[in-house]
Amino acid sequence: MITVEVALERVLAGCKPTTPEMVALPAALDRVLAEDVTARVAHPPMDVSAMDGYALRAAEISQSLTIIGESAAGRPFDGTIAPGQAVRIFTGAAIPPDADTVVMQEDSARDGAQVTFSVTQPAGKHIRPMGLDFSPGQIMLTVGTVLGPRQIGLAAAMNVPWLSVRRRPRVAILSTGDEIAMPGEPLGAAQIVSSNGPALAALVSVLGGEPVQLGIAKDSRESLSAMVAAAKGCDLLVTSGGASVGDYDIVQDVLAEHGLKLDFWKIAMRPGKPLMFGALKHVPVLGLPGNPVSAMVCAYIFLAPMLRALQGLPSRDPLVPAVLGGAVRANDARQEYLRASLERRADGQLAATPHSRQDSAVISGLAAAQALILRPAHAPEGKPGDAVSVIPLPEGF
Ligand code: AMP
Ligand code: MG
Repeated sequence: MITVEVALERVLAGCKPTTPEMVALPAALDRVLAEDVTARVAHPPMDVSAMDGYALRAAEISQSLTIIGESAAGRPFDGTIAPGQAVRIFTGAAIPPDADTVVMQEDSARDGAQVTFSVTQPAGKHIRPMGLDFSPGQIMLTVGTVLGPRQIGLAAAMNVPWLSVRRRPRVAILSTGDEIAMPGEPLGAAQIVSSNGPALAALVSVLGGEPVQLGIAKDSRESLSAMVAAAKGCDLLVTSGGASVGDYDIVQDVLAEHGLKLDFWKIAMRPGKPLMFGALKHVPVLGLPGNPVSAMVCAYIFLAPMLRALQGLPSRDPLVPAVLGGAVRANDARQEYLRASLERRADGQLAATPHSRQDSAVISGLAAAQALILRPAHAPEGKPGDAVSVIPLPEGF
């Protein structure tokens, strides 16, 4: 059995970023830039006023000046300003070439065509110089950036309407088991509903991937074989169930017939010992355990970083420091992930309290959990207040 750490390294080494595609700005939300983005314009495109007021020469601020025209946003003043003159100006309007300062309306007194000022101020005041924000040719967004609303706004300001982003990884999801039925189907006496398929598909979506539900394979070579073949063209194949040592756990065998290059299939963690990883004609394959809690905990630990890697994102340490809100027993050789509730205490510390039931078939416990407490191999018993590391499971994740 290998450790989670070693397994994660090997899994990530098998995940190469997807090819880039061009998308329009509205479709770029949450996508990862595949190329640097260069400004096509200057922002602002010329020296502009930051205020509503008057444009003049700072040296003449103590005089009464004659207003000879106006400069509004999109409609610049196109005359010249002679000595003793000023131009009415509005926010975002071009500064006339002869002016070097803008006095705020609030610091001005207008009387017909004359204006006087109650302040003194230097040249340059209330002027945003051309290119203050960026200039043409400047790289303002770099490869690997996750595009949120602000980055999309920046790209638009740069007059870049299309962006090269990583294609959403297509993740084939294959559930297995003679006893497993689709949600909503009439159930036979010994059947259970597939929770893994819908949960994994949702997680893939949250992680920026595109889930491709292959369905539920029977525990027969023919059924599995046909469905594995359907994963062709995907960037990752995720299976659940059939990965243990029972007579019907044939996923590994069938994948081997399809040419699987097995990397590992046992890992020192709980829940989730039978975790398999390999490559099928260069497509990474993650074989998750069937137990719903095991499958999802393994997905949080492995599938989440894999989807980052497939989108060209670096790994991110999911652990945050917390203190125990309840006692935990000493751990054995398998690194453990305990389902827990999470609470921010008055002293600012995060307290993680393990659920009393940790059975890997208790789906409701996982659904209610707000964090996973990491218990390293051979960790001694812990009491309330002891420092631990947790993986938060925030809303929507
Ligand atoms: P297996 O690894 O196939 O022996 O499955 C282990 C346990 O997980 C069994 O109790 C299965 O019924 C259950 N299981 C397998 N696949 C799913 C699934 N898609 N949804 C819910 N439970 C499952
Ligand atoms: Mg099974």
